[in-house]
Amino acid sequence: MYLHKELETMSRSEIKQLQLERLKKTVNHCMNSPFYKKRFDAFGLKPSDIQSLEDLKKIPFTTKEDLRSTYPFGMASVPLEQCIRLHSSSGTTGNPTVILHTRRDIDQWAEAVARCLYMVGLRSNDVFQNSSGYGMFTGGLGFQYGAEKLGMLTVPAGAGNTKRQIKFITDFHTTALHAIPSYVTRLYEVMQTMGIDPRRDTDLRVLLIGAEPHSDEQRKRIEQMLGVKAYNSFGMSEMCGPGVAFECPEQNGLHIWEDYYIVEIVNPDTLEPVPDGEMGEMVLTTINREAMPLLRYRTRDLTRILPGDCPCGRHHIRLDRFKGRSDDMMILKGVNIFPIQIEKILMNFNELASNYLITLFTSNDNDEMTVEVELAKLLTDENEKLKSLAKEITRQLKDEILITPHVKLVQKGTLPQSEGKAVRVNDLRRHF
Ligand code: ADP
Ligand code: ZN
Repeated sequence: MYLHKELETMSRSEIKQLQLERLKKTVNHCMNSPFYKKRFDAFGLKPSDIQSLEDLKKIPFTTKEDLRSTYPFGMASVPLEQCIRLHSSSGTTGNPTVILHTRRDIDQWAEAVARCLYMVGLRSNDVFQNSSGYGMFTGGLGFQYGAEKLGMLTVPAGAGNTKRQIKFITDFHTTALHAIPSYVTRLYEVMQTMGIDPRRDTDLRVLLIGAEPHSDEQRKRIEQMLGVKAYNSFGMSEMCGPGVAFECPEQNGLHIWEDYYIVEIVNPDTLEPVPDGEMGEMVLTTINREAMPLLRYRTRDLTRILPGDCPCGRHHIRLDRFKGRSDDMMILKGVNIFPIQIEKILMNFNELASNYLITLFTSNDNDEMTVEVELAKLLTDENEKLKSLAKEITRQLKDEILITPHVKLVQKGTLPQSEGKAVRVNDLRRHF
């Protein structure tokens, strides 16, 4: 049941004790980083000021901007010759960011991923296929090393070429697949055109879905389409990649591995801790990293800590399904809306497929929203039916987001499909 039984089943007080030990060690080690040395000096802070977990709050936050301004190697806490890998984000705006790893970092990262995979029931006799892009995107190599560590037969299929992906699934008897949720729908549609019934013609039983926000309704759809269990996987490059937090078989929140990270949830505006169980921005401190530890890193990801103990026996806290990043929030007529709220409603309609696009625009100085969503089946001469369907969707969306969107039902395959993470919002207002 547990890959690292001692670490996974530690009590809360044992976790806290280990965290304090590792935090102190990490803070000391960070003084080898030119960035943190300067930061600490600027704040008149010494490593010896950190004597309890509470003292963590004395340390200033680290942001993505800090990673950018120290690009490429200014954050490193070890000499470069001790590093064996770097991953880098795309850097569409400004400098990209770089994350460095020592051999131990890579090994510990693989252990974390292996722990997650084992937790959801995967064993060395499983065949694991990865549809993530390999290369700089950490979903590729991150899962690869973790799956190998567990001893599964691995199929590093990579992204794209859906027909070949499906051929691998059937020919190699793939039992576990890692995929971005929005890609699973595409996979299923192509299977249908190939006459492949995933329940009948494949051995798939477990899907690991993550890398982008998705609703529970979307997960249920995926489980039904493919006849699998689908587990939510959360990761980010700054925290290595996949393996940070993962659902256990209870499928009720994602355990975040507290022997690797200290979690804080803060109000993104005031940066003060939110009351227990409330939604806020997740701030993470790495306590098991050598090359480039990050102290109080503002992830911008919004979630909350679920109260109570998990029946699986792990006491590592559970995070609620992620709502998105703070920058995913749309503000329309003064109302804050997340794409995931819209998805949740759409996924409840069997008449609808999974691909949708939200467009924001200005009309007569007013913010307007169009929600285009693909139909599951071709509906040709059923205009009345479509009209009443659109009306009902509009009504339910209005209940959820408090404004009335223009709902457009479009034929399957007509909305753009992105190669990687889905792009759900097209904000035309920004061009004004
Ligand atoms: P990029 O920053 O270029 O998107 P990453 O691969 O590092 O590259 O992306 C990490 C981000 O992806 C997270 O900060 C989070 O916003 C999102 N993400 C990853 N996994 C999940 C998940 N399971 N649910 C929601 N969002 C996720
Ligand atoms: Zn659990």
